[in-house]
Amino acid sequence: LDREEPNYFGAGPALLPTSVLQEAAYDLIKYEQSTVGIGEISHRSKPAIKVIDDTKSNLIKLLDIPDTHEVFFMQGGGTTGFSSIVYNLIGNYAKRNNGKIGKAAYAITGSWSKKSAQEAQRLGFNVDIVVDTKDLKYGDIPPYSQWKSISKDTAYLYVCDNETVHGIEYKDIPTSDYLPEGVELVADMSSNILSKKVDVSKYGVIFAGAQKNIGIAGLTIYIIKKSLIEQPTDDELKSYGIPLVPIAFHFPTVIANNSAYNTIPIFACHILKLVTAKLLENGGIKQIQAIDEEKSKILYEALSKYPTFYHLPVTNPKYRSNMNVVFTLPKELEDKFIKESTEKNLIGLKGHRSVGGMRASIYNAVSLDSVKKLVEFVNEFATNNA
Ligand code: PLP
Repeated sequence: LDREEPNYFGAGPALLPTSVLQEAAYDLIKYEQSTVGIGEISHRSKPAIKVIDDTKSNLIKLLDIPDTHEVFFMQGGGTTGFSSIVYNLIGNYAKRNNGKIGKAAYAITGSWSKKSAQEAQRLGFNVDIVVDTKDLKYGDIPPYSQWKSISKDTAYLYVCDNETVHGIEYKDIPTSDYLPEGVELVADMSSNILSKKVDVSKYGVIFAGAQKNIGIAGLTIYIIKKSLIEQPTDDELKSYGIPLVPIAFHFPTVIANNSAYNTIPIFACHILKLVTAKLLENGGIKQIQAIDEEKSKILYEALSKYPTFYHLPVTNPKYRSNMNVVFTLPKELEDKFIKESTEKNLIGLKGHRSVGGMRASIYNAVSLDSVKKLVEFVNEFATNNA
């Protein structure tokens, strides 16, 4: 089973390495010594446990995850991630602070952090918006010194490290000048995990839906500081007035059962194992980060050559995403751009419906060669139509 290497720039679910899919397709029919496929075995069987353990171990190696942190997986995606984190972290804060209900600080830098903050509010928690870049059209991130200060009774500060729709990505994290001691940093890395080196020790929680940079839909990865796992008992939670976490999203239960309290989508985990193994084989994070940076550099450079034709809504170049390159061109030429790019087999460039324009998602599996083809087209289209 083979395919021509696609030049696919869709935002997610996104491209995966063909070699991984070929191996996974085989394993889906017959897995190792078993008579059946990987998706047909019990999630508590030895081979399934090995898939979970190997995937964890690959992630620990790739991200250099320290012993202070635990890695686990749950069914779901980014949305189940940000919903379940609120309950668990507020519960844990209450456990450590005699039943006190902590505040949840949110930095809104695009549509996904906005949705996360709205969800925390909807679930009834006390949300403090410390920055909202709506007036900057989500095109810049002001320095931390200009954000609203965070009070000490806050459980965590939530950021979306890479805003998939608006194409804006953090390049540094708040230091102790801004973040009070004891307030944990939580980051949604659904669209940029494993694209760059991160200092995991600085985070309380990192989570990511798998289906963009590293896998297929169905699974979420969590990296959590061990001190944040413990939860009050159900009776304690009731007495504090904090809602109970649905059991499948109760972190201590999931962790105690090695990510298989309920049925983990083991095929999705297997794909993640193969993707992470391939990254390790190819030189790890350092290597993929260098390629990802090169890809985004040549694409932004090409777009910037025609400032009266292409427009980059992320006005501060520092924060332009290495994963989702968002740009616009004269509205009346948008259909033509899509038509002609599709004719050249450059697929999936239409921007998110909420912002319009174009978006080239250049996740890990998109080759430098594909991006070079796109750069050529970007140049040609501007020359012919400007
Ligand atoms: N967070 C980010 C950064 C995303 O890009 C997305 C989806 O595009 C989500 C969260 C939500 O993910 P899901 O659709 O898996 O719930």
